[in-house]
Amino acid sequence: MTERDCIFCKIVNGELDAEVVHDEEDVLAFQDINGRAPVHVLVIPKQHVANLEEIGALPDTVTKRLFEVASAVAKKLGVTENGYAVRINNGADAGQVVFHLHLHVMGGRELGMP
Ligand code: 5GP
Ligand code: ZN
Repeated sequence: MTERDCIFCKIVNGELDAEVVHDEEDVLAFQDINGRAPVHVLVIPKQHVANLEEIGALPDTVTKRLFEVASAVAKKLGVTENGYAVRINNGADAGQVVFHLHLHVMGGRELGMP
């Protein structure tokens, strides 16, 4: 998939709508279209990187911000106290379907390991 066809790049550039939870210079967080927990938000770098194998293309500050924004989103949506999961599906066996790196922030119910 090229960046041009990437749905998350389309959300970043406004071609596709999303319910934005947090927006800053290099990182965007928005509601998962098919939420599987009471809180299910995706946190992405605005720069297109497909997966963890490409994470070296991101400035270190942006990689750090992904995790800080995940924490800020959890706080904003009220799941910090009870806890939440931050998950990256990387590749086929993990069920990755969108090849633009993203953190799933999930909470509001008990989340075990798969
Ligand atoms: P993964 O690639 O980590 O398996 O999952 C991709 C996630 O993106 C899924 O949870 C799916 O529901 C979500 N998703 C796919 N297409 C869209 C979309 O167009 N908008 C939003 N907001 N989420 C999407
Ligand atoms: Zn992309």
